[in-house]
Amino acid sequence: MRTAIVLFTRDLRVHDNPALAAACASAETVVPFFVLDPQLQKLSPNRARFLHQSLADLRESLRARGGDLIVREGEPVAETMRLAREVQAEGVALTQDVSTYARRREERLNDECERHRISLRLFPGTTVVPPGGVRPGGGDGHYKVFSPYYRAWESAKWRDEVATPERIALPADLAAAPLPPLPDGESPAALNGGETEGLRRLKAWPRHIHTYDDLHDDMAADATSRLSAYLRFGCLSPLAVANRARDLDGAGPAAFLRQLGWRDFYYQVTQAFPKISTQPYRASGDTGWRYDQDALQHWKDGLTGVPIVDAGMRQMQAEGWMHNRARLITAAFLTKHLGLDWRDGVKWFFRWLVDGDVANNSGNWQWVAGTGNDTRPYRRFNPIRQAERFDPDGVYVRRYVPELASVAGKAVHQPWRLPDTVRSGLDYPAPLESHRDEAVWLRP
Ligand SMILES: Cc1cc2nc3c(=O)[nH]c(=O)nc-3n(C[C@H](O)[C@H](O)[C@H](O)COP(=O)(O)OP(=O)(O)OC[C@H]3O[C@@H](n4cnc5c(N)ncnc54)[C@H](O)[C@@H]3O)c2cc1C
Repeated sequence: MRTAIVLFTRDLRVHDNPALAAACASAETVVPFFVLDPQLQKLSPNRARFLHQSLADLRESLRARGGDLIVREGEPVAETMRLAREVQAEGVALTQDVSTYARRREERLNDECERHRISLRLFPGTTVVPPGGVRPGGGDGHYKVFSPYYRAWESAKWRDEVATPERIALPADLAAAPLPPLPDGESPAALNGGETEGLRRLKAWPRHIHTYDDLHDDMAADATSRLSAYLRFGCLSPLAVANRARDLDGAGPAAFLRQLGWRDFYYQVTQAFPKISTQPYRASGDTGWRYDQDALQHWKDGLTGVPIVDAGMRQMQAEGWMHNRARLITAAFLTKHLGLDWRDGVKWFFRWLVDGDVANNSGNWQWVAGTGNDTRPYRRFNPIRQAERFDPDGVYVRRYVPELASVAGKAVHQPWRLPDTVRSGLDYPAPLESHRDEAVWLRP
């Protein structure tokens, strides 16, 4: 083939990128391409910033290999076909993805490529095991429960990692315009995007992975990998991350690998159930939600008066990331204590999280709300017990709720129990009324 376009989407890397590697192997010249879709840019300033940083880094890596990254703004399929005409491309390579948006894009691209006699080739790379790569009983369904999925996932034959292309030959006379200016994010302490930064973090991670099993739920220790945003944008290959963990023995690496299994699990659920962000996966649990704007706003602002919940919500605004245990506690508080609709939670998390993605955000929200893939949909999280267990000294709460900085130890988890003289000196609200009867945890 003379010229192929690699349409980058959520695979912003040169290492283990099957679409890029195959295009470089089969075409004389290759055009690495990314289309900024203004519609998506609006969804989350934090992710828009991370994306731009990742594109700048990808461009550097491609340039170091003789290539470049062409970036244009517009509708991805129309822009790809326009570029295909300009460079007389004979093929387009694309990494497959599962969201409704991604699948529509793939379908339209497929139609347009057929119409213009251009070959479209689809590649894996968004997950370790491609969605649908393992199926229950060998049929055409998907796994609804995690444990059997994980057993199949672990024992499946994983593809081999592909080598980073050494040289990328661009067509002559193709000039890349400068990248659009870096947008402002909303979270001052958000991570910086890019494959280089992702690989640096991945390299450092094995020093801590051995304590992952013990410490991943310790909210103050902050001892998880923080690789999620790099996986979200494909700055890191999920397969490469999983292989690094699989190479290591012990409970830490095994527990970490299991989390990557959860990530893949929700991708195969989303592929089978693309309306996961708006429709209940399990309709019977999706009833009785309240729509109380005032309570919702308090939750969003981290002003519920329940310190562990407020700390999580404020961490998300400060860092564009929230500890997994805090995500569980805050989501359960919204849905099971305040009785508010999980869809409002999905949207708020999706705006702030740099790692926010359809499959993992909505899949986890539905799990917590009891409408998703949890085998115990009536499970409750008592926020005080969770706080005392996973932030026993209150360090996490004091880090993110400065109004409570003067309250020592675990007393910080229940400020309503403090003597009136102390409580009246704190600029911190009384707890929001819970919608549910089991609000006993709030009683002094
Ligand atoms: C309500 C709610 C919403 C969430 N929204 C997202 C989201 O939008 N995007 C996202 O990537 N994760 C989401 N998670 C899962 C999890 O909280 C994050 O992946 C994790 O906190 C990221 O931090 P880390 O990279 O340090 O994770 P680590 O603990 O180091 O885990 C390693 C990797 O495993 C994957 N992983 C870990 N836990 C989960 C999980 N429960 N489900 C799926 N994958 C997991 C992530 O890719 C993560 O980077 C959500 C969880 C909840 C309860």
